[in-house]
Amino acid sequence: MRDASPLAVYLNDYQQPAFVVESLELDFDLAAAATEVTTRMAVRRNPEAVEPDAPLRLYGDGVELVSFTVDGAKPAEGLLEQDAEGLLLHGLPEAARLEIVSRCHPDQNTALEGLYASSGNLCTQCEPEGFRRITFFPDRPDVLTTYRVRLEADRAQYPVLLANGNRVEAGELDGGRHYAVWEDPFLKPSYLFALVAGDLACQRDTFTTMSGREVQLELYVEAHNADRCDHALASLKRAMRFDEEAFGREYDLDVYMIVAVDDFNMGAMENKGLNLFNAKYVLASPDTATDDDFVAIESVIAHEYFHNWSGNRVTCRDWFQLSLKEGLTVFRDQEFTTDCTLFGVKRIDDVAMLRAFQFPEDAGPLAHPVRPDHYAEINNFYTLTVYEKGAELIRMLRTLIGRETFRRGLDVYFERFDGQAVTTDDFVAVMAEVSGRNLTPFKRWYTQAGTPRVTAATSFDGPGGQARITLTQETPPTPGQEHKELVVIPMRVAFLDAKGQRITAHQKGGEVQDEWVLELSEGEQTFRFEELSDSPTAISWLRGFSAPVILNANQGVDELAHLLAYDDDAFARWEAAQTLFRRAIRSRIEHDAADTALEAAIEHALAALLRDEAIEPVLLATILQLPPTRELAELFERVDPVRLRNERDDLEKRLYMPLTEAMQQIQPKLDDVDNGAFTAEAMGRRQLRNRLLALRVAARDQAAVPEALAQYQKARSQTMRMGALNAVNELDHEARQVLLADFEKRYRDDPLVLDKYFGLQAGSQVAGGFERLDALLEHPGFRWTNPNRVRAVLGPFMARNERHFHQDDGEGYRRMGGFVEKLDAMNPQTAARLAQPLTRWRKVDTARGEQMRAELERLAALEVSRDLRDVIERALAE
Ligand SMILES: [Zn+2]
Repeated sequence: MRDASPLAVYLNDYQQPAFVVESLELDFDLAAAATEVTTRMAVRRNPEAVEPDAPLRLYGDGVELVSFTVDGAKPAEGLLEQDAEGLLLHGLPEAARLEIVSRCHPDQNTALEGLYASSGNLCTQCEPEGFRRITFFPDRPDVLTTYRVRLEADRAQYPVLLANGNRVEAGELDGGRHYAVWEDPFLKPSYLFALVAGDLACQRDTFTTMSGREVQLELYVEAHNADRCDHALASLKRAMRFDEEAFGREYDLDVYMIVAVDDFNMGAMENKGLNLFNAKYVLASPDTATDDDFVAIESVIAHEYFHNWSGNRVTCRDWFQLSLKEGLTVFRDQEFTTDCTLFGVKRIDDVAMLRAFQFPEDAGPLAHPVRPDHYAEINNFYTLTVYEKGAELIRMLRTLIGRETFRRGLDVYFERFDGQAVTTDDFVAVMAEVSGRNLTPFKRWYTQAGTPRVTAATSFDGPGGQARITLTQETPPTPGQEHKELVVIPMRVAFLDAKGQRITAHQKGGEVQDEWVLELSEGEQTFRFEELSDSPTAISWLRGFSAPVILNANQGVDELAHLLAYDDDAFARWEAAQTLFRRAIRSRIEHDAADTALEAAIEHALAALLRDEAIEPVLLATILQLPPTRELAELFERVDPVRLRNERDDLEKRLYMPLTEAMQQIQPKLDDVDNGAFTAEAMGRRQLRNRLLALRVAARDQAAVPEALAQYQKARSQTMRMGALNAVNELDHEARQVLLADFEKRYRDDPLVLDKYFGLQAGSQVAGGFERLDALLEHPGFRWTNPNRVRAVLGPFMARNERHFHQDDGEGYRRMGGFVEKLDAMNPQTAARLAQPLTRWRKVDTARGEQMRAELERLAALEVSRDLRDVIERALAE
């Protein structure tokens, strides 16, 4: 196994490219079976390069070389070398013009990297290293150039021909063919290249930028989806306006195009002026998409748009810097969604996701820093750590230096590095410069993996007296990083009085305040507060989740109940409930018995919350939800996942059984929610209605099942339909089968909605999970070559169906391992992602863990892709 290890790439080995590409012309003779590409480029030796006479490296992966000339002539014998990575050209003068003719085969490309066919159309995905599957090129993000692209194809089959930039020419050719020429005036790396050829309908709109320029907005979809584009276009316009108002960023080209693609590995791709989107993140109508889908679409549209500055105009020097663009852009799209939603619930959703997915990643065998220092396969580093934790780092920077200084820093960053490929160090250096602060200690957040643990202790003396807060920090070891350094942790805190109001005080020499950001930079630090206006009843910690840490503040049940009732910080209020839920679960697992006093206190606090007329519906809906099993597993060294899920569900049932009447009383106030309104308030009320219904079903409220049936029958929106389905999906009851059968019949021919059906069936713990799984894979709508379909089935099965995935005879692991193996032969990137639940073998009880490990070892002994091998080897490493 060792011998076949992928060769790692190290950050420390970075060298400037030997050549710069001064200009690039690409001619595509497009056809699905074989596409011929003529690549013309002017290259010049890079004066910054280390070796003055180094050869030119042109990467190529599976591309056939047809011909090659340098300044019009074939290279002399021995000067052009072909190897596993592509071509190596020796003996080049100071400057030269290369012309390369090559060929690739889009219709055989099931990896969906490079140029491929999807539903009869041709499209590309180049990030991170897909361009080398199209032609031979110095395919690395620090080689930037201008592109002129000519596309030629059969007119009937591919009436639409798109590439980056502005269309400068188009026309008819003999034999039913036509062409289009596109020029992108902005420097860009090859990973931002894109082309599309297909038979697509175009929905148009316009946007006038802050300087008064009119931009054409074009959304390309298959004709039958033309009525599902309004939301995406409206989202795009909101995002463009927001980026101007919040960040001062204006769009630069004359046209902004989005193309929906059925077969797509990722969510979407920010190619300059021509975004390619997984159709799932574009198409929406009230009948087919839930409120969550609407919000996700708005967020992804904004994310890719924001990349035009954070990623495209200023790009990454190398792939170790991926978070430079992704962390910053996730931060920017989070700010946008917060602006569109209400009451800090967006922040809670982001934290819940971070805890359920990124914290486990950071504590497991695949843990890595936000800026890794080596990788074997870069495809495997498009992770929650690089994206979501990366965004948390940006947020902490803003907390530490202040909003205005941060905004000024961003302006300097975009201006100084426009048209360049830079590093996360460059970004932090700008923030240090504008704030006048030494941010070197902060940079450890970028280089150190693992979630820091913070403990907090407090002591008080009476009103008018003093308070002391002592914080300590420690980061547990992660693979390859035994010893951890201290990091800078901004801890936002407030003291609350008996009525839930904030108490004022001051730190020595400081102003009187009612909220503080404490900077923990030592292993242990004490902060003193003087002249408190009242004696604190509770402390509101980590407000707004001011740092991605695991906090242990040892708060009593009464204090947590007080925060749950009164805290004015939405996150801290939610967190109080989460802490109570976690404590109850921990007690059940560790002591083998429910802590009845604790559970009675939680029930009491929830009852008070349900009576609270002032709480916003969306916040109430969010607070009422127990943490998912996946997150709860992090509380334990190893745990039996089936038992954990059962205890979680049983706790939910016990807590909400006595509250069914209180929930029933709220429900009529939400009878008018299916009203077609898409305001944040309307969506929040729908969310609460669906949550109450699901909790009542879970609490065995006899009236709830018929209500779910009625809600499904009467539903005018997908949100209410799915709300009813979700409520009954864990019920071994005829109602479940009736609704699911109806849903399948209704949406059989609508792949994106059918994915919801697949997810419900695969993710349900109701008996017969393997038979359902078999049936789904036999379903006429299922295709192994479509990542959405595969993820819709295998994802929920591994994420939510503990009973079957973790069945104690190992059947679930063997099935999933087999599917990963099958998929790897077609689409390594998606296979490597779907293998990840198996890598968590050390977190489950030993008997199951050994079975998971055996399945990983079986896969390791096979000929698998580099993507999959990298994941398996890290998972099995000592
Ligand atoms: Zn992105």
